Amino acid sequence: MAGTSTTARHVAVLGGGICGLATAHRLTRSGHRVTLLEGSAQLGGLGTYFPWRDGWVERFYHCVMPSDDELLGLLAELGLADEVRWRRTDMGMIVDGEHHAFNTARDLLRFTPLGLPDRLRFGVVSLLLRRLGRGKDLDNTRTEDWLRGLYGNAVWETLLAPMFGSKFGRSFGDVPALYLWQRLGRDGNVATRGYPARGYKSVIDGLRAALEAGGARVRTSAPVQRLSVVDGSARITLPDKEMVEADQVVSTLPLPRLRQLADDDLATRLPTGRLPYQGVVNALFFLRRPLAGHYWTPVVRSGTEFDGVVEMSALAGTAPYGGRHLAYAMRYTDRESALYQEDDDRIAARWTAQLRTLYSGLSLTADDIDEVHVFKAPFVEPVYPLGYLRQRPPIELPGTPLLLATTAHVYPEVTSWNSSVRLANQVAATIDGAAVSRRTASAMRADGEPSP
Ligand SMILES: Cc1cc2nc3c(=O)[nH]c(=O)nc-3n(C[C@H](O)[C@H](O)[C@H](O)COP(=O)(O)OP(=O)(O)OC[C@H]3O[C@@H](n4cnc5c(N)ncnc54)[C@H](O)[C@@H]3O)c2cc1C
Repeated sequence: MAGTSTTARHVAVLGGGICGLATAHRLTRSGHRVTLLEGSAQLGGLGTYFPWRDGWVERFYHCVMPSDDELLGLLAELGLADEVRWRRTDMGMIVDGEHHAFNTARDLLRFTPLGLPDRLRFGVVSLLLRRLGRGKDLDNTRTEDWLRGLYGNAVWETLLAPMFGSKFGRSFGDVPALYLWQRLGRDGNVATRGYPARGYKSVIDGLRAALEAGGARVRTSAPVQRLSVVDGSARITLPDKEMVEADQVVSTLPLPRLRQLADDDLATRLPTGRLPYQGVVNALFFLRRPLAGHYWTPVVRSGTEFDGVVEMSALAGTAPYGGRHLAYAMRYTDRESALYQEDDDRIAARWTAQLRTLYSGLSLTADDIDEVHVFKAPFVEPVYPLGYLRQRPPIELPGTPLLLATTAHVYPEVTSWNSSVRLANQVAATIDGAAVSRRTASAMRADGEPSP
């Protein structure tokens, strides 16, 4: 262990999603005393799972990309990197109820929702897009302005706004173009994607085991109710007036949640900008047969409330799902929206009917749909305003023992397990760096050097 009595601190990590788990892991390995507090009964945050038959299934679709270096590095440390199964996946597109493959130059030439000149323009601009963005101030450029200018109106309206915009709803055109430019570096139409052979639960379990083996305390069903700072230390209130004291706190909770917990003094020190967040409504279908076999299919103007379908079995196969084919349908939306507030059973019934109509060409019958489960998450990703690079909240809150590590901090990277692990590494390095400075100062004092 790298820590010593003068450097090791008691750090409380709030939130047991991937960011909290990875932060706690890094800090434990540096020798700090770590307590991880997760409010729900399960670790994993947006990567959580539910029991299904004799196994577990993720509530929300997840995959690993080959460019996820930070996540793959963590998996290697946990001895799990070899468990990631890589598979080439492709993409479909449904526009006005018509199904299209959307992967090769030939698919594009046959893509009738666009006229031929626009198909060609789409192909050429897409090839050059990464290069066209280099050196531009895309953080201050609206996505719509940038993309309409490059691709023209038809491509923007028919394809790009619905394809990439579903995550941000109507605000997508206003989000900085930098976000999309960065995202194109991670995603592709035909892409090799990875999935842990024993599911994301194996990663979460691996992190928990490593934490506990390193001496960290991992607590679930421990919702933080209040956070205050007293004499430079943090005081965390849990249910039944239980109090946890810590030298430092890393909060991975969405900022609106943290704001509700901070005491009045701390609240005045939190970042002031109030970012709107998108949540998600997502339905899982266990099917007796595959749909079209595309991993991802955006759905445009086709009479559905969901904006896309992810066929997980195109990546993970059917073995994890007892021979069933798993498909997720999703709609990113504000947590106050009527859809988000609606009863899950009603959503399940309506979306089942919509899925059957959407895939009526495949004669999808009621019997083909074995089970439907609806899951929601209120905070997935902030809707970034223009110029967000300068407005991004700081990680360290001056004058407090609090550090922030949230999805609002990873921009311009796409929120993902990879960007959360990168952020966790950065936060842990910040705490370690401060610890080294304290050790140096204390050594200098012991040597009789003037202290600062
Ligand atoms: C539909 C969907 C699909 C996605 N697909 C992918 C993908 O394919 N690949 C990928 O890499 N990423 C994907 N992501 C994104 C990824 O899941 C997130 O970026 C990542 O999980 C964020 O992790 P986090 O730890 O920052 O936040 P979270 O996972 O939100 O964790 C925050 C934790 O804080 C806890 N908490 C909240 N309040 C309290 C409290 N008062 N006290 C204690 N704990 C509290 C919550 O219960 C939660 O566990 C997807 C997300 C969604 C929703």
